[in-house]
Amino acid sequence: MAFGQGVIWYDGEFVEWEKATTHILSHVIHYGSSIFEGIRCYKTTKGPAVFRLVAHIDRLYDSAKIYRMEIPYSKEEFCENILETIRRNKLEECYIRPFVFRGYGSMGVNPLGNPLNCAVAVWNWGKYLGEGALEKGVAAKVSSWNRPAPNSFPSLAKAGGNYLNSQLIKMEAVEAGFEEGIALDSNGYVSEGSGENIFLVRNGVIYTPPTSSSILAGITRHSVFILARGLDIRIEQQFIPREALYIADEVFFTGTAAEVTPISKIDNITIGEGNRGLITKKIQEEFFGIIEGKIEDRHKWLTFV
Ligand code: PMP
Repeated sequence: MAFGQGVIWYDGEFVEWEKATTHILSHVIHYGSSIFEGIRCYKTTKGPAVFRLVAHIDRLYDSAKIYRMEIPYSKEEFCENILETIRRNKLEECYIRPFVFRGYGSMGVNPLGNPLNCAVAVWNWGKYLGEGALEKGVAAKVSSWNRPAPNSFPSLAKAGGNYLNSQLIKMEAVEAGFEEGIALDSNGYVSEGSGENIFLVRNGVIYTPPTSSSILAGITRHSVFILARGLDIRIEQQFIPREALYIADEVFFTGTAAEVTPISKIDNITIGEGNRGLITKKIQEEFFGIIEGKIEDRHKWLTFV
């Protein structure tokens, strides 16, 4: 099913795509009060499989806890609803968007008087940063917008409102002719892309900002830690000054949508040789090998639909 077709799971029922609506005075529309996940289901040699479903659902429930939302389903029920949504839409591969939002009830800022709505939508979604990006890499720009300070928005929650910051970063980058923006944290250290975590490689060691640099704790990021260790590549979490990006041998983004995408230029400075580096390639080979079912799923990351 393409975007705009099929059925959506909405508060316990499967409804036609165009009937999955909410009132314009819903709390979420005015105040960004939603939490969500982005998950991918891959076509493997053994049928469709969801990548790291349990980790994504754990993060959804963590986001809910931070925002005092009591999801009226168990994690197991939520996972099963996701799998059933994919089955009903007869998809072999897709992007999965589970979300929970404060619905229609009262219009004050206090969200607690509003109902909580839950939904799961799925659709086909190609390469997020453009065809060819996985090999050639993308050009990025350090944003003039910072990530929110730790005492302003909780970055560990994947909440709708956080993405106003991401939109500013993305729009600025795209309008200046770059594929993506890289934001610094409120102390000036490298944080992340508008929808991706960032890694650099120097002298054979991989570095990435810690969760205290206002990042989302990415599931792909976590997967890269495990893959790097399996390949005997040292990987460190460290505060990263902006200029460390320029002098890195390799830089890459990770994310459910972006997967593992090399960055070839930052602020018009060529990174390394200006194409995909060797360590980035090794991580990609492991990552895509597992999700395509060509390398054994030794970490039990796949849930078959
Ligand atoms: N940071 C932000 C701001 C994101 O939106 C995403 C995408 N969910 C990521 C990082 C990467 O997280 P994940 O690997 O879990 O998709």
